[in-house]
Amino acid sequence: MSYRAEYIWIDGTEPTSKLRSKTKVVADGAEPPVWGFDGSSTNQAPGANSDCVLNPVAVYPDPIRGGDDVLVMCEVLLPDMTPHPSNTRAACAAVAEKFKDQEPWFGIEQEYTFLKDGRPLGWPQGGFPGPQGPYYCGVGSDEIWGRDVVEMHTEACMEAGLAISGTNAEVMMGQWEFQIGPAGPLEAADQIWVARWLLYRCGEEFDIAATLDPKPVAGDWNGAGAHTNFSTKAMREGYDPIITACEALAAKADLHIKNYGAGIEERLTGLHETAPWTEFSYGVSNRGASVRIPWQVEVDKKGYIEDRRPNANCDPYVVTRLITDTCCSALAD
Ligand code: ADP
Ligand code: MN
Ligand code: MN
Ligand code: MN
Ligand code: MN
Repeated sequence: MSYRAEYIWIDGTEPTSKLRSKTKVVADGAEPPVWGFDGSSTNQAPGANSDCVLNPVAVYPDPIRGGDDVLVMCEVLLPDMTPHPSNTRAACAAVAEKFKDQEPWFGIEQEYTFLKDGRPLGWPQGGFPGPQGPYYCGVGSDEIWGRDVVEMHTEACMEAGLAISGTNAEVMMGQWEFQIGPAGPLEAADQIWVARWLLYRCGEEFDIAATLDPKPVAGDWNGAGAHTNFSTKAMREGYDPIITACEALAAKADLHIKNYGAGIEERLTGLHETAPWTEFSYGVSNRGASVRIPWQVEVDKKGYIEDRRPNANCDPYVVTRLITDTCCSALAD
């Protein structure tokens, strides 16, 4: 007998990479081996020299197929087995290893928008729904669209063994969120990519697409972000390290903004619960700040911070690498 392994990888689409996957039938008892693909079809290689390598980095039970079948998250390598230029995981792995003694944890809030016939799900053709207000955490068929996909996706993440910690309907009609974490920098990022793949795959069952577009509708409609919650062991035990982390993020604000997802200027306008991308700020309970210290964290004098800047379309390997590097370097001093 044999089982199916769905190899999932990140392609070279500019400016925002896309997920790809294909199926390998593997003999029972064998581990999913190193495999390959045609990089000339994914913006990862020229046609004359098109082989790219799929290196398995994490294996999860496949909740769609069930049985012995698995999902295999891969990193892309060149044929000489060094990281491909599109591979952002390798640098994340190095930083995670460097600072592992500080025990960094991440919780990522992945927002997204369901699409049907090119419109956000539930939106009338050629028109607009009523203004924002009732949709966030709403209930009822006049407010909520796509809950059946959300339920299937949540179950799929749980069955795959991902650290999914919750879901909610968002402020814009047709927009939702799931959270992954807390988990280490590499684990949280691997799992966000797998959870994104599962979201698209579950959507196929309902003929509903999902987009990570950070500003799917221009104007007075909320964008989609990926708030990134972060702590180290020291931050979970005291308040001074929380402030040190915020100040470290302030000093590197431009570097972070540049790497938090394409189109961030359109989303971080200063409206719709965002801070303007041009001005870094942090504050207690402030959902209009770049970085929020949750109210309970100030009371307890320990806990975590929330970087509210990353776009929904960010690369979580880049985001967790940068936050770990910036904050853990400062905390080590
Ligand atoms: P919000 O109130 O901003 O909507 P959510 O509840 O959606 O926050 O998401 C918070 C995320 O932070 C969850 O994924 C949670 O697991 C994670 N989290 C909780 N505690 C920590 C911590 N100490 N370090 C890192 N992440 C954490
Ligand atoms: Mn072929
Ligand atoms: Mn949230
Ligand atoms: Mn949200
Ligand atoms: Mn949040």
